[in-house]
Amino acid sequence: MSDPTEQGLSTRCVHAGEQRDSEGAVHTPLYTHSTFAFGSTADLLDVVEGRAPGNLYTRYGFNPTIRSLEAKLADLEGGEQALAFSSGMAAEAATFLGHTRAGEHIVCVGDVYGGTFELLSTNLPQVGITTTFLRPDETARLPEVLTDRTRIVFFETPSNPALAVLDIAAVAARARAAGALSVVDNTFATPVNQNPLRHGADLVVHSATKYLGGHSDLTAGVLTGPASLLAPVAMWRRNLGQTIAPETAALLARSLRSLPVRVRAQNATAAAVASFLSTHPRVARVNYPGLATGEAKRIVDAQMRGGGGVLSAVLDATAEQTVAFVDRLRLFTIAPSLGGVESLVTQPVTTTHHGLTPAERARRGITDSMIRLSVGLEDADDLVADLAQALDAL
Ligand SMILES: *Cc1c(COP(=O)(O)O)cnc(C)c1O
Repeated sequence: MSDPTEQGLSTRCVHAGEQRDSEGAVHTPLYTHSTFAFGSTADLLDVVEGRAPGNLYTRYGFNPTIRSLEAKLADLEGGEQALAFSSGMAAEAATFLGHTRAGEHIVCVGDVYGGTFELLSTNLPQVGITTTFLRPDETARLPEVLTDRTRIVFFETPSNPALAVLDIAAVAARARAAGALSVVDNTFATPVNQNPLRHGADLVVHSATKYLGGHSDLTAGVLTGPASLLAPVAMWRRNLGQTIAPETAALLARSLRSLPVRVRAQNATAAAVASFLSTHPRVARVNYPGLATGEAKRIVDAQMRGGGGVLSAVLDATAEQTVAFVDRLRLFTIAPSLGGVESLVTQPVTTTHHGLTPAERARRGITDSMIRLSVGLEDADDLVADLAQALDAL
């Protein structure tokens, strides 16, 4: 038998974690059941007291469909274990609660998802957990903001919507030196393009709602890393009732079996779209990891295997013209979210960053003429033609 860790990602997406049942189903069946039977009290106690890994109760995650999915997810990120959640926000909230207590502190570096920002800036302070926010270009300030009460350094790379990249190894090393855990949101890159654990991060979270699900038809989240760091989080997941539903776990496992085919196609199409936009006279700026230069390119080359399927652009246009451009697109559908088979367009000012003050937006480089594209699985030529007709009408 070959060593599974030496197999390629596509092979592991298909085979990792799969459990064939006695009926011969070719991959793990869907067990919707909330509870599981035992032959004896002694057998039940073995599971309840942690001596045996059996099935027990689905909210605990002790369900064969959920466990099979988690084994696949852990394998794809190179983690020892994974926990699957009802959403990406559920995974983040349980991670923060599992590793910080009242009076302790989190540092958040760079731009993060709007819900993450709200959780850190509004919800967690209510239970005594505070966060210091650093801009993406302020990683050198980490040593001055890390205190003996800092438990977590959290960041996204590439980030939304500016697609800024952070040096995972450098941030993780600074966090570790201060006794804090580094937690990376790897939603935009996916395990196809980036594995933060291999660069020194302690934990990786995903909104599986995006690329891992990949079809805009499920909501889920993931946390991967060492078993010892997942145990305190699993307890919050269990008691807050955040475990993924078995039906969603089966759907997500189905999506993961084709993850590399989808993401590699999206990498190539997004690169073609980015290169078209970067040469158009009505486009002032394109943000895409595949077009990075200088220090950002060094970071991309060191930690990413592909640029991903999301890009943003600043048009040479007024706010009204930008709205007209977005409304004129035919193949890019106006909708928040990303990572599905259909291409989507948003304006950060009207969606993800709508709640920010104009000053906060300016600080993050978000202007009225910025658009964000999530490139789907359509033909690149058709997407470019759609963008061209809307730009030419400006
Ligand atoms: C969508 C998203 C989240 C939140 O995930 P949900 O599944 O919607 O809870 C977190 N981080 C990033 C980067 C996201 O894009």
